[in-house]
Amino acid sequence: MASVFTQIVNGDIPCHKILEDDQYLAFLDINPIRPGHTLVITKRQIDYIFDLGDNLLSGLMIFSKKVGTAIKKATYCQRVGVVVAGYEVPHTHVHLIPTNSMSDFNFALSQQADQGELAAMVTKIQEYL
Ligand code: AMP
Repeated sequence: MASVFTQIVNGDIPCHKILEDDQYLAFLDINPIRPGHTLVITKRQIDYIFDLGDNLLSGLMIFSKKVGTAIKKATYCQRVGVVVAGYEVPHTHVHLIPTNSMSDFNFALSQQADQGELAAMVTKIQEYL
């Protein structure tokens, strides 16, 4: 069954896209725990990150580094946190979360974002890519 992220890759569901290439796609989380919270996915639907082949896995991190560097500049955060969970969507994705302290790593803070704010954040992050 196609995951919600595969549906995004196929263009069946919209997303606030930041960057893509032939293997990876970065877009904003619709329920961010902090403004700028981004997901980087593999276009191939593979549930568990450590089931990825070495090349796909290392490429995911390199792609995430590029996006995370832009997020840090756009949000002025101290560190972009990197989290992999996958309990909601069984399709490999890396959460890139702008943080200023350990307490920012709190998924209970996630809230549905305003579409206009998400669109503005995409523009801001893309300025640094
Ligand atoms: P998890 O699988 O627990 O790592 O979390 C999945 C994340 O995907 C959550 O933070 C959701 O808010 C996010 N999410 C689910 N559906 C969408 C969507 N259509 N667009 C953007 N983010 C989504």
